[in-house]
Amino acid sequence: MDAMQIELGDITKFKGDAIVNAANSTLLGGGGVDGAIHQAAGPELLAECRTLNGCQTGEAKITKGYLLPAKYVIHTVGPIYSGQQSDPVMLANCYRNSLDAAYEHQVHTIAFPAISTGVYHYPLKAATKIAVQTVKKWLENHPDYRMQVTFMCFDERTRACYADVMKKEN
Ligand code: ADP
Repeated sequence: MDAMQIELGDITKFKGDAIVNAANSTLLGGGGVDGAIHQAAGPELLAECRTLNGCQTGEAKITKGYLLPAKYVIHTVGPIYSGQQSDPVMLANCYRNSLDAAYEHQVHTIAFPAISTGVYHYPLKAATKIAVQTVKKWLENHPDYRMQVTFMCFDERTRACYADVMKKEN
């Protein structure tokens, strides 16, 4: 199986080792995918998040998955799109730091949402290129570790964009 794959669906249903949450810096819950993950995981997730003292943009913190099928949730904070040069750097950091946290916890199957492309308004095509390129590079840098990465796309527009970018990157 390919090391990177695209799926259309709800990340809270992902049956794998870890899902990534596009959180905000408080880690205390929000809307979008963050709200859906907390809803599905139950209140113990928020209780654990309260102990983490937030998370800076581009960084990642791991918790248990509680009522989710996934064992872990990796919370990362994408950049709020600003048009500055820091945006792509921060977004790439999210993917790399999430994969590093996954690796440290022996995660072999992980699903990412399209970080920052919702209420943080990162342009979809640009964000997708960063996601695919950063994951690809991480996988190339860890040739002896099996890591199956799923890009979980919540709508058809996002899925089509990932498919287009993956075709060009491979
Ligand atoms: P951000 O604040 O990082 O922009 P959002 O949650 O607003 O985060 O959006 C990020 C992406 O997650 C968007 O593409 C949105 O459609 C998608 N999304 C929302 N809910 C889910 C879900 N349950 N599973 C997967 N993706 C989701």
